[in-house]
Amino acid sequence: MESPSFITVPVPLGDRAYDILVGRGLIATAGSRIAALGARAAAIVTDEHVGPLYAEALARSLNDQGLRTSVTTLPPGEATKSYASLEQVCDAVLAARIERGDLVVALGGGVIGDLAGFAAAVVRRGVRFVQVPTSLLSQVDSSVGGKTGINSRHGKNLVGAFHQPSLVLADTALLDTLPIREMRAGYAEVAKYGLIDDERFFAWCEANWQGVFTGGPERDEAVAQSCRAKADVVVRDEHENGDRALLNLGHTFGHALERITRYDSARLVHGEGVAIGLALAFRFSASLGLCPAADAQRVEAHLSAAGLPTRLSHVPGGCGTADELLDAMAQDKKVKGGALTFILARRIGQSFIAPGIEADKVRTFLESELN
Ligand code: NAD
Ligand code: MG
Repeated sequence: MESPSFITVPVPLGDRAYDILVGRGLIATAGSRIAALGARAAAIVTDEHVGPLYAEALARSLNDQGLRTSVTTLPPGEATKSYASLEQVCDAVLAARIERGDLVVALGGGVIGDLAGFAAAVVRRGVRFVQVPTSLLSQVDSSVGGKTGINSRHGKNLVGAFHQPSLVLADTALLDTLPIREMRAGYAEVAKYGLIDDERFFAWCEANWQGVFTGGPERDEAVAQSCRAKADVVVRDEHENGDRALLNLGHTFGHALERITRYDSARLVHGEGVAIGLALAFRFSASLGLCPAADAQRVEAHLSAAGLPTRLSHVPGGCGTADELLDAMAQDKKVKGGALTFILARRIGQSFIAPGIEADKVRTFLESELN
C-alpha cells in the first residue's frame, strides 16, 4: 500500500507520551498503526453524519490487520455528550469484549472524541483509546490535551477525566465533507493559536487561509502547527493550573455568547462565539490602552475575510444588554471574587492572563460595542 505523506507532532508527556499524525489519507493506515500498539480488538464510536462516510473504511483497515471491530453510532450533536450516551458507549465497549490491551477508537468531531475518550477512561478503570478526529475543531483542539467528558444539567463538560489518547490520526482529507460553517468555526481556533503567542503563524494564516479551506498542503500545515501550539501548552500545564488558561483567549466573551444564545447551534456554534470573542478581546485590550488599535483591526479583518462573525451585532437574534452579557460571564468558572479573569493582549502574538478585571470596565466596553 502506498504510504501517504504525513507530519508527526509528538506530545512528550512522559509515560503518557503519544504522537499526533497529520495528513491526507491516514485513515487507510489506521489498521497497521493500531495493530502496532498491540491491540487485538477495537471498538469504534462515531456519529450518524460521520459513520456512514468513514466507519467502513476505518473498520476495513483494522480488519485487514486481523483486529476485531465493532461500531457504535450515536446521533450527531452536543446532546450526545450525555449520561445516557455514556452508558450506551460503555456497554458497547464491554459487549465488544475490549480488554486492557485493546482500544476504543473515536471517529468523529469533538462530541464523539470527548464522549468516547471518557468512556475509555472509565470502562474497566481505563482502557486505551485512539482519536480519529474528523472536524477541523477536533483536529486542532479537542483531540489534543487529554480532556474528556460529558455535559451535566449543571453545565458543559462538568463530568469528565483527563485521559490521554495513545495515538491521534488527523486525516485532513476527511475535512472535505465537513460543512463550511463547521470548517470556519474550527478555523477560529486555528487563528487563536497565532494570536496567543505566535505573530508569525498569524501572518502565515493571513496569507494562506484559503488553502486551509480548499484542502491544499496549507491545511496539513495549519493543523500540524495548531497541534504543536496546543501540545506545547499542554506539556507545560497538563492539568490546567496555570498557562493552559491562555488557550481561553476569546472564550470568556465566547462562552457568554453561547450561554445567551442557549447553546442553540442554529444561532451560534462554539467557534463563531470564539471568533467574536477574539475580536472583542483585542478591542477590549485596545480600549484599556494595552494593545494598538491597529492590531485589533487586523484581527477583525482576518476573521471577517474567513467568513467569521466579529461583532456582537453579528449574533443572530441578538445578544442582550451589557448587563445580561456580564451575568453570563459571571457564571463562567473563570470568575473569582466578583472580578473577572480575562485573557488580554499587548499585541498580536502577545496575550497574557489578566485576573481582577473590574466588572465596570467590562460593562463600559460592552456598552460601547453595543452602540
Ligand atoms: P461535533 O463533534 O458536533 O461536530 C460538528 C458537526 O460536524 C457534527 O454535526 C458532526 O457530525 C459533523 N462532522 C464532523 N466531522 C465531519 C466530517 N468529516 N464530515 C461531515 N460532517 C462531519 O463538534 P466539534 O466542533 O467537532 O466539537 C465540539 C465539541 O468539542 C464540544 O462538545 C466541545 O465541548 C468539545 N471540545 C473539547 C475540547 C477538549 O479539550 N476535550 C476542546 C474543545 C472543544
Ligand atoms: Mg474552544
